[in-house]
Amino acid sequence: MNYELSTLHKDLYIGGKWRPAADGGRFDVLDPGTEEVLGDVADATVEDALDAVAAAHAAGPAWAATAPRERAEILRRAYELLIRHKDEFARLMTLENGKVLAEARGEAVYAAEFLRWFAEEAVRIGGEISTAPSGANRIMVLRQPIGVAVFVTPWNFPAAMATRKIGPALAAGCTVVLKPAKETPLTALAMASLFEEAGVPPGVINVVPTRRSSAAVAAMLRDPRVRKLSFTGSTEVGRVLLAQAAENVVKCSMELGGNAPFIVFADADLDQAVASAMVAKMRNGGESCTAANRFYVERPVAAEFGRRFAAAMAQVRIGYGLDEGAQLGPLVNAATRNKVAELVADAVQNGAELLTGGKARPGRGFYYEPTVLSGVAKDARILREEIFGPVAPIAVFDSEEEVIALANDTVFGLVSFVHTRDLARAMRVAERIESGMVGINRGVVSDPAAPFGGWKQSGVGREGAHDGLLEYLESKYIAVSW
Ligand code: NAD
Repeated sequence: MNYELSTLHKDLYIGGKWRPAADGGRFDVLDPGTEEVLGDVADATVEDALDAVAAAHAAGPAWAATAPRERAEILRRAYELLIRHKDEFARLMTLENGKVLAEARGEAVYAAEFLRWFAEEAVRIGGEISTAPSGANRIMVLRQPIGVAVFVTPWNFPAAMATRKIGPALAAGCTVVLKPAKETPLTALAMASLFEEAGVPPGVINVVPTRRSSAAVAAMLRDPRVRKLSFTGSTEVGRVLLAQAAENVVKCSMELGGNAPFIVFADADLDQAVASAMVAKMRNGGESCTAANRFYVERPVAAEFGRRFAAAMAQVRIGYGLDEGAQLGPLVNAATRNKVAELVADAVQNGAELLTGGKARPGRGFYYEPTVLSGVAKDARILREEIFGPVAPIAVFDSEEEVIALANDTVFGLVSFVHTRDLARAMRVAERIESGMVGINRGVVSDPAAPFGGWKQSGVGREGAHDGLLEYLESKYIAVSW
């Protein structure tokens, strides 16, 4: 079985073949729950990355020429395989990322849903035809695959961030090179086997784990055969890649960092708001770009919301991801845990009160307690930077106007959450908030059928929905007289 740690292919997947890195380099993958080495994988060189581009380029014309129905059916088979093997994929994700099994199973299904959605979209690539206003000719618009796409993905959702890109690219008729995060290459390699089993021809998908990301990605972006970059990761790295992509004017989709406000008005159903806060904060252990990062609660209910939320957070069982009872696993690495600890210390130093948690767990593994802070100063670092951990800072607000200004006072604009029983207010606030997505009375918005993406420095382009497919298609206008 190619989806289990012991039997998984751990080399590079290029042109339908498994092979070691050109210089024989390999790197270790760690279990963040134990800090032990799980195994090693091939470490792609610049030469390997360019070989992958060449393989994708060579496979391009034949893949673009396949019938949409054939591409749809391959994607559908990949969906079915991922559902069938969701437990093996979940185990791999838990091992290399640390997330608990329930989260990992949820991600396997979520990842599969992108394949099902884009299997359905593959046969819905439309065009347009109209008469020119002058009446002289017809305006015909075709949509054609853009060409070779390079994907750079993060460690927090190792399966879903891959299928959210591979699904639409393959549906559109593009071929791809996937460079997964160095923390989580195993899921990406298992994904290569899955697509191979689903019948994806050699060269259509290539997977090149590497510790030398910056050199490998820069070289691929300099290669004129690459026509598309889709990146999910931090805004900091996104900016660097946008600049590199500018050289060859490569079309970019960027899913970057977030700083989601979670707003609770005094008229909200507080039980429901707390349940929703638990999801918005704790999905994926807080390591999610859509995670609620700042809790703004209207003054009359702030103390009560804080008390109930802290009580719910204190109930969360920390543990090793593979243990069935565990609800919160470790953070992905020491750096992430140290940053979380630093943000909490800074908030406390500046007057915030700890309602629960506030400590890293001693011993092996990068665990941090579920934490709620109240009375956080409105200019605190923790409200401005992405926390990426199980920590919820609460600040108080007094008016709708004030909270909209607070919510928009950030360079980010991925998602926002609004809780109120007043529908008119919910819609008013949703319209004025500067983010690509808004959740009203709910703590999760992600759905393969919805356009996922950010405003401002949270991103460019959309993934999912029909929009996600359009990112991989070029328009061609043909002026025709008949
Ligand atoms: P990261 O930016 O450090 O890394 C993302 C990817 O880029 C990894 O594959 C990494 O190896 C690669 N990379 C890093 N430096 C590079 C360079 N100089 N050149 C080329 N590639 C490079 O992000 P991360 O820590 O893996 O992930 C966390 C970040 O991702 C958070 O900011 C989070 O908000 C964001 N994220 C966004 C979304 C979204 O859809 N908007 C989804 C998930 C995660």
